[in-house]
Amino acid sequence: MKGRIFDIQRFSTHDGEGIRTTIFLKGCPLSCVWCQNPEGILFRKRPIYFENRCIHCQTCVKRSHAGGVKIQDGSITLDIDAKENWNDLIDWCPAGALEMDSKEYEVEEVMQEVRKDMVFYKHGGGVTLSGGEALFQWEFALEILKQCKKEGIHTALETSLYTKQEVLKKVLPYLDAVFADFKAADDKKHKKYTDVSNRKIKKNLKYLLQSEKKENVTIRTPMIPGMTAFKENVLEISRYISGIYPEVSYEILNYNPLAESKYHLIDQEFCFKENPKLYSKEQMQEFKNWALEGGVKHVIIES
Ligand code: SF4
Repeated sequence: MKGRIFDIQRFSTHDGEGIRTTIFLKGCPLSCVWCQNPEGILFRKRPIYFENRCIHCQTCVKRSHAGGVKIQDGSITLDIDAKENWNDLIDWCPAGALEMDSKEYEVEEVMQEVRKDMVFYKHGGGVTLSGGEALFQWEFALEILKQCKKEGIHTALETSLYTKQEVLKKVLPYLDAVFADFKAADDKKHKKYTDVSNRKIKKNLKYLLQSEKKENVTIRTPMIPGMTAFKENVLEISRYISGIYPEVSYEILNYNPLAESKYHLIDQEFCFKENPKLYSKEQMQEFKNWALEGGVKHVIIES
């Protein structure tokens, strides 16, 4: 079985306990306007252009037979829908400025990468499946999780929970930790900012927080200025999750201004014309207070 992966990050410290190997699976049913990994949304494999590596030799323009690479005002632009032999163009580029955004892996190939960090897993680390939405390729994700458990490796999943409940039931036995997003309590806002309704997500949250793994679940909300970072949203989310499981862990994530740079790679516009800054410690504490007011006892904040 093969799966499409757009990154394998070693020595990661933000995706669960200890030092972790995070596997980013491609494809996501959501399109959050602030997405941190916009290159992971589209399941399709596509070429990307790194302007900072380009030496402007124009080899790619000369070798392009189908109009896939053009030069406009001195800048290279890609038309990913053109019937171009992208692998050839990538090989011709002398500067490594063109690359495919993802690669197909067999489960064993993923495990070979994972085993390189085995030494860290003995001291509290493990493997985290992320994305995109890791469960978009759930059969592949399940096989990786099963193999990790066979080899005694701690497993975690970062998910939007926008998946069928049967899928969740299948993967849950092989997971030691789950980080599940609940971004917007208001369904209209959820649709506006992520492209999908939150109904399926709320049902899955309920299932998760009533399951025998509920102690190993963390619900997360990213604080996006003007979109999710307001009192009513944090209050409603907190009421909903603590109403299901009063001991629930809830993590409020600070806004990440660094995501903006990735949008240039895939020729998409970022949701903010002027990129907001990280929230201060005081602002994060205020968000925490809203969550406590909403009934959550265990609130984690990142500064
Ligand atoms: S071949 Fe590579 S280095 Fe040359 S212009 Fe194209 S992208 Fe830039």
